Amino acid sequence: MNGADSPRSVTILGSTGSVGCNTVDLIARNREFYRVVALTANSAATELAEQALLLKAELAVVADERCYGDLKNALSGSGIEVAAGAEALVEAARRSADVVMAAIVGAAGLPCTLAAIEQGCVIGLANKETLVCAGRLMIDAARAHGARLIPVDSEHNAIFQVLEERHRLAVSHITLTASGGPFREWPLAKMTQITPAEAVAHPNWDMGAKISVDSATMMNKGLELIEAFHLFGIPEEKIEILVHPQSVIHSLVAYRDGSVLAQLGQPDMRTPISYALAWPRRMSTPVASLDLARIAALTFESPDDERFPAMKLARESLQNGGSAPIVLNAANEIAVEAFLAGEIGFLEIIRLVERTLERFPHRGIEDLETVLELDISARRDASEQLSAIAV
Ligand code: NDP
Repeated sequence: MNGADSPRSVTILGSTGSVGCNTVDLIARNREFYRVVALTANSAATELAEQALLLKAELAVVADERCYGDLKNALSGSGIEVAAGAEALVEAARRSADVVMAAIVGAAGLPCTLAAIEQGCVIGLANKETLVCAGRLMIDAARAHGARLIPVDSEHNAIFQVLEERHRLAVSHITLTASGGPFREWPLAKMTQITPAEAVAHPNWDMGAKISVDSATMMNKGLELIEAFHLFGIPEEKIEILVHPQSVIHSLVAYRDGSVLAQLGQPDMRTPISYALAWPRRMSTPVASLDLARIAALTFESPDDERFPAMKLARESLQNGGSAPIVLNAANEIAVEAFLAGEIGFLEIIRLVERTLERFPHRGIEDLETVLELDISARRDASEQLSAIAV
């Protein structure tokens, strides 16, 4: 970054999460280049207040209104504005900023991510569930309002970096790499015993609980397939998934002349986050440099759809389009929550998603209201089924 520039204004939606904290860390290391507009959390009022004081934010918002008092007390006398509730979250996203980091987990981030897009700024997009539920609406809104979506998911950030706009028509396919998660080599019989603690312990990445479980079921890769379809406008049949346990090659783009371009790096989210914060430039990060001689071997394998059926379900949902990805995502969010709470077994997660998908006939989706309504009814349906599932 160039010291002569005026500071770039930044809002972080979901600043207390894993992506959010990494974003805060990068900004704290580069204070002269950034001015923080708004920080938001769901309920982590104490952590949010600490971040707001550290970065001298203008506004701090908790989505859960019950946490307003704690946030207000923690920031009293600081001059930092405080607000709570779903509408306040959307208002925070609307507040003028050069970059909005969309790092809320789940479809809960959709209204405020869309509000941020409508202000026409740069969006660092981590919150993949929003694209899964409302990809077309978001891409259309970005186009209409001149917003630039910079993918923060490491695979999509990699593709963004190596997808040459001038050669877009020459792309033969793209390959999303997948670590395979902690249970890549586990036999199916043993997978019935997986505990939440084992599922959140990802071998390569340090992430929030929900995405860690998604990585363990490989639903994460299914969601990423849908995310890639929307972000890059590449047909579903040209998006491949390749298991690469070392997570060094973050994804690849193949061109019709036989060239394959890849982006490599340490599995550290601060690289793609920094890319979005500094875009179209690059900034220094504390990420260790890649020592390929030390790594010595990079290996690859095909994904196993039998032990990890989530990828196939997601692909079918993408093919069906309309309501299917919304139902897939909603049921998955409910199922992961139930698994983390010890209410269902690991293999029940994807079974619940599959069953919920079967119960919702396909239909077209026109607007945000329809997306939100369907999200609520699919969640309700999945929750009702939970009681019938034996642990
Ligand atoms: P975390 O669970 O660590 O953090 C989620 C953030 O969202 C927290 O700030 C949380 O607040 C807030 N939040 C949760 N629920 C709500 C809600 N209902 N309304 C408003 N805010 C809410 O998630 P991650 O950082 O791991 O992931 C964030 C997104 O980025 C996900 O979509 C994930 O798939 C994606 N992603 C994450 C990666 C990672 O390395 N973590 C890598 C690639 C993509 P609170 O702290 O108060 O609960």
